[in-house]
Order: sequence, then C-alpha cells, then structure tokens
Amino acid sequence: MTTPSSAKPEPTSATPRTQNEIWIEKAKAHLLLNYKQQPIVLVRGKGVRVWDADGREYLDLLGGIATCALGHCHPEVVAAVKAQVETLWHVSNVFYSEPSIELAAQLTAISGLPRAFFCNSGAEANEALIKLARKTMKDRGTPERFEIISFENSFHGRTLAAVTATGQPKYHKGFEPLPAGFHHVPYGDIEAVRKAVGPSTAAILVEPIQGEGGVRAAPQGFLKALRELCDERGLLLLVDEVQTGMGRTGKPFAFQHEGILPDAISVAKALGNGLPIGAMLCSEATGKSLPTGTHGSTFGGNLVAASAANVVIRYIRDPKLLNEIQEKGEYFIARGRELQARLPTIIKDVRGRGLLMGIELQQEAAPVIARCREQGLLVNAAGEKTVRFAPAYIVTREELDEGLRILERVLTPA
Ligand SMILES: *Cc1c(COP(=O)(O)O)cnc(C)c1O
Repeated sequence: MTTPSSAKPEPTSATPRTQNEIWIEKAKAHLLLNYKQQPIVLVRGKGVRVWDADGREYLDLLGGIATCALGHCHPEVVAAVKAQVETLWHVSNVFYSEPSIELAAQLTAISGLPRAFFCNSGAEANEALIKLARKTMKDRGTPERFEIISFENSFHGRTLAAVTATGQPKYHKGFEPLPAGFHHVPYGDIEAVRKAVGPSTAAILVEPIQGEGGVRAAPQGFLKALRELCDERGLLLLVDEVQTGMGRTGKPFAFQHEGILPDAISVAKALGNGLPIGAMLCSEATGKSLPTGTHGSTFGGNLVAASAANVVIRYIRDPKLLNEIQEKGEYFIARGRELQARLPTIIKDVRGRGLLMGIELQQEAAPVIARCREQGLLVNAAGEKTVRFAPAYIVTREELDEGLRILERVLTPA
C-alpha cells in the first residue's frame, strides 16, 4: 500500500525532541561509542558551573575529570590563550618557542626535576617514562633490565604500553599480545614489591593516589619505602602524577607529601586547565638517556596549550591557593563523614586528599551518579562503587555543601 501524497510525515514522537536528544542521536550515529556517556551535551561553562544544550545548569564537581583546575573559562587562562591564538599557534619542535620554554622552567622549578619533555596526554607522558626507564638501563650497561613493576588496580592510560602498565585486566582484554616486561603487585604492599624485584627489573611506576582505581591513597610512607628500595636495587622510581599533580592534593605534586624525589614523573590532566598537554619531568642523569632524536611529539609543547599551562603554574605556585585546596578538601571529607554517619548502611567510606575525593558506596555508583545529574550535580565513578569529586580549585565550601546535599537527597531512602 502506498501512502497518500497528501499525508504529512508522522512526527517521530508526541513531544518535540530536546536539543540534547537531537545531538545525542547524531553522536550515536557517528562517534565510535567507546565511552559510557551521560545523556547530556554540555555547551558552556563558567567557574564550577556548566550548561547543557537545553540551557540546564549543573554544579560541576568533576571539573573535566580533574583537568579544569582553575574552573571553566577562567578569565586569565582565556586571556592568555586568546593572546597566544592571535600571535602564533604552533611551530613544531624543530624550532624553539617561548611558552614551552617558560613552562619547562616553571615545571622543573616546582617539581625539583630539572628536565622537561612535552606531549599531549597522560598516556603519552607515561610512555615517555617507560621509554626513559628502558633506555636508562641500556645506557648503564644493564640491558637485561627492562621490566616495570606497577600496581594492581592502577591506571596509566590507554596506549599499548600504558594500558599494559595499568593493573586492571578489564582494560587488557582483547588487545593481546601485550608488550613484554610489566608486572603488577598489590598496591601499598612494600614486601610484595621487594619480592617482585629481580635481575630484569628497571623501574617501579606508581600513582601516589589511585585515581581511576577508586581514589585510594597509598599508605603513609609507601612512596618513601619505594624510593629506598629503588636506591638499594638501582631502580628508577617513576611517579604517575597525571591526576594528583598540579596542586590537586594541596602540594604542587603529591610525591612532595613524603619528602622524596622520584627519578621521573608524568603530568597531564590539570596542566593545561582543559587544553590537551602532558609532560614528563626527569632527573639530569636519566634525561641524558633521551638525547637528540630518541623521542618526540609533533604537538608537544604546543604554544596555545603551553600558554594556558603557564597561567595554571602561576596559580599553583601560590602557597595560599595550595593551603586552600588542602583546607577545602579537609572540609569536604569532614562533611562527607557526617553524611556517612547519617547514612551508615549506604556510605562505606569517605576519603581523599586535597580536592581529589571519593565517597565509596555500598552499592554501584553508576545509578547514583545518574540521579545526581538529574538533580543538577556532575560527578563520576572511580572504580565500581566510588563517587569521585575532583572540582576546580576555586570551588567554595558552599558549593561543596551544595554537592553533598544533592548526593544526600539522592541517597536517602524515600
Ligand atoms: C587520566 C590518567 C591517565 C591517562 O591520561 P590520558 O590523558 O587519558 O592519556 C594516566 N594516569 C593517571 C593516573 C590518570 O589519572
């Protein structure tokens, strides 16, 4: 049967579709679908607030997963980026450029690691750490040492080597054969690390706090014990500061809470306030193992990203800001524990350092996060059961309270 030519096309649904729905339909038609995405399209941000395509406002306590450290569209970052965009964007690393030189000077000053290499993401920064470790051992005349010890439940990124270093089998599945030379041991267990060190071990790669793994900090003294073990056995200590670095925990880098100096670290997330940039910082001695021609990145040190990062650095060099990060984090943890006391059968744990905080539930976090979003709060899951908070450093106590109130409403049985 043919449709009479006078018939109008059937409306696809009784109610007109929202802008969010229209965009999400297009997304589902064209994106790879490799992410589990919440059903909103964000179009605008200011400070700790963002708005979706239908004009709905949200309190963003995730901060682009710990990237937008100074808040969305921070005026000084906007000004620096605008000025750079109007001046020069990119020149490639066959030339020098001012923003990346300045950034290297600042990063090496705040970390105590005198050499900087720029890339574009956390995974790439970790790739640089892994290559640095292998090459350093070759140059020392111990080529048999190529293995990296990392930790169960860790997260180091999605490139083939970084994902192999990642101690979560779910991220490995289907991508075998994985690169050789990675071992995982229980996080925080110094005896297990000691036992795992052998004649082929080159380095230990560790997160000061396992971010993606559920906001779990290593026990006090663990990094220090790793540093001692590395010194004793001639290994490199590599610290993944991708999530914990750039002021997130109330120090420029989380390793500084333990008064140690790693051989090299990776930095990314908060470095560019949301622009893609990563860095590997290393000692003078190990840096000599990646001389001219041995490693590189086309976009590494990009002028626009580096100029954004130079603003972030200026902020986190201010001890007052670092103090505030620590105090606001402590405030959140205290408030979170009061909530836990009211909901003892629902909340299992409240933990964190600085403005990287997790509330572990007795149940799966995903449905709770969806309901928080419906109530105007953006957070996400770290691990199966932990709700992660990684807000911009400019967040106020009132805004933290507001977030906890929404979470309480969502968690309180009707
Ligand atoms: C996010 C993260 C990475 C990966 O960073 P990408 O920019 O996604 O490659 C690596 N390590 C840690 C600790 C992270 O939190």
